[in-house]
Amino acid sequence: MKTNIVSLYEDELENQIVSAGFPKYRSAQIAGWLKKGVRDFGTMSNLPADLRSFLKENFSIYEPVKISSYVSSEDGTRKYLWKLEDGNAVETVLMRYKYGDSVCISTQVGCRQGCAFCASTLGGLVRNLDAGEMLDEVLFTVKESGGTLHSIVLMGIGEPLDNFDNVSRFLKLINSDKGMNLGSRHITLSTCGLIDRFDELADLKMQFNLAISLHATDDETRKKIMPVANRFKFDDVIEAARNYFLKTGRRVTFEYSLIKGVNDSPAQAEKLAQIALYVQAHVNLIGLNYVEERALLPTDDKDIKIFYNILKNRNVPVSIRRKLGSDVNASCGQLRRSFAKQKSEVQR
Ligand code: SAH
Repeated sequence: MKTNIVSLYEDELENQIVSAGFPKYRSAQIAGWLKKGVRDFGTMSNLPADLRSFLKENFSIYEPVKISSYVSSEDGTRKYLWKLEDGNAVETVLMRYKYGDSVCISTQVGCRQGCAFCASTLGGLVRNLDAGEMLDEVLFTVKESGGTLHSIVLMGIGEPLDNFDNVSRFLKLINSDKGMNLGSRHITLSTCGLIDRFDELADLKMQFNLAISLHATDDETRKKIMPVANRFKFDDVIEAARNYFLKTGRRVTFEYSLIKGVNDSPAQAEKLAQIALYVQAHVNLIGLNYVEERALLPTDDKDIKIFYNILKNRNVPVSIRRKLGSDVNASCGQLRRSFAKQKSEVQR
């Protein structure tokens, strides 16, 4: 399979161009087109024909096709379903804030983590996205919406640390001039807690934010809703989070989606407060988005408030995630899921 040209670092592209006998400045011209979002070698009008055929032979290039898009009438959140070169689809969400737009990208087609509340994982993992595909989610989503990029979150479909090499390449690309020059502090990577990759993650020495989907305060509860808890013990996850903070100096965030009768009791709030203080972590409470195929229900607003107040009173930095785009199925995986269902209904 050919490499997606958008996935290459600038020096890698340059090396390939030069070793094929073309002058070095040609690679800067190509990078210029790619940065503008041109995804067709034929359109790169300042390149000679022999270079264009060299590129065609050696690299793949593809412009994601918008299958559908939705704009929330409540808050302007936009959701896009993009078709990839092989016909698979991923979703990207753009959230509008006062200070600019935040783009939530998918890192895999599907997911194999199997969390009980999540729509992304229902059909399992199909494949990893390459770095260029992730970069294009950002580029084309911003272009299509006419927005101003402020930050990105890796919280769409997929588990970023299950696709570590492509994700770290993407992080470096988006950080660079060839990418979008986006500072690491404007990037948040969210993981279900594949703690065996935390050392490598810290070794990237990039200052992005790390969010860990905790969703429970003990092994038993976590195992009920997150199969990954069978691989990594709860206490080990907490230690890994703490060590990550000690090593990098970057405060981690615990994401905690409140599920009625499962993880939302006052006693669980007390335990979460203790853990968060020990790790010096921020806690982000999320109201569960109801997913049709799942039997789990969201915690009532009044109980969310009680849970929140317990953390607040213990001086834990805590926030409740603003619910954006619920009228456009903005929760991860829901859109791709309905696309897949429609497709299979048509096929049947
Ligand atoms: N795989 C990564 C990122 C994907 S999801 C991870 O697990 O962190 C981003 C966040 O949304 C995670 O915290 C995830 O647990 C949560 N989430 C998924 N489905 C949800 C739902 N239906 N309601 C509320 N939160 C959900």
